[in-house]
Amino acid sequence: MSAFDHFLDKAKQMADVAGRKTGEVVESSKYKMQAYKITGNIQKAYEKLGSIVYDSTKYGTDSTQLVESCIAEIDGMLAQLEEVNQKLDAAQPGIVCPACGAANNLASLFCSKCGASLRPAAQKEAGEEPAAGSEEGRDS
Ligand SMILES: [Zn+2]
Repeated sequence: MSAFDHFLDKAKQMADVAGRKTGEVVESSKYKMQAYKITGNIQKAYEKLGSIVYDSTKYGTDSTQLVESCIAEIDGMLAQLEEVNQKLDAAQPGIVCPACGAANNLASLFCSKCGASLRPAAQKEAGEEPAAGSEEGRDS
């Protein structure tokens, strides 16, 4: 039974890792879905705004209040979208700063917290020796 127990242990470890990864994916796709919905609502609000302007121009009615409330609605949704996009950025897998450990956007060249270079190639150009006992350099 001990071999089976060992197998269970391994399976449990793998499930833990997979679970964590799935959690990240679920979170970022949740925000993507939110951003998608908000973008769709903004689109609809723009269309509504267009038809308000169309009607008022064609029939000469005063639509100032309608237009203003529509613009306020769109501004609110744009703020929501901005917020969701920031959460999405934070949920995306990024680069961990080797100097201070802060999470950075995947496209970043330098740490947003301490300014250290996030690119190993840039460190090599600066002539820095890799630290002793480093795990790097094993992928030869
Ligand atoms: Zn840093």
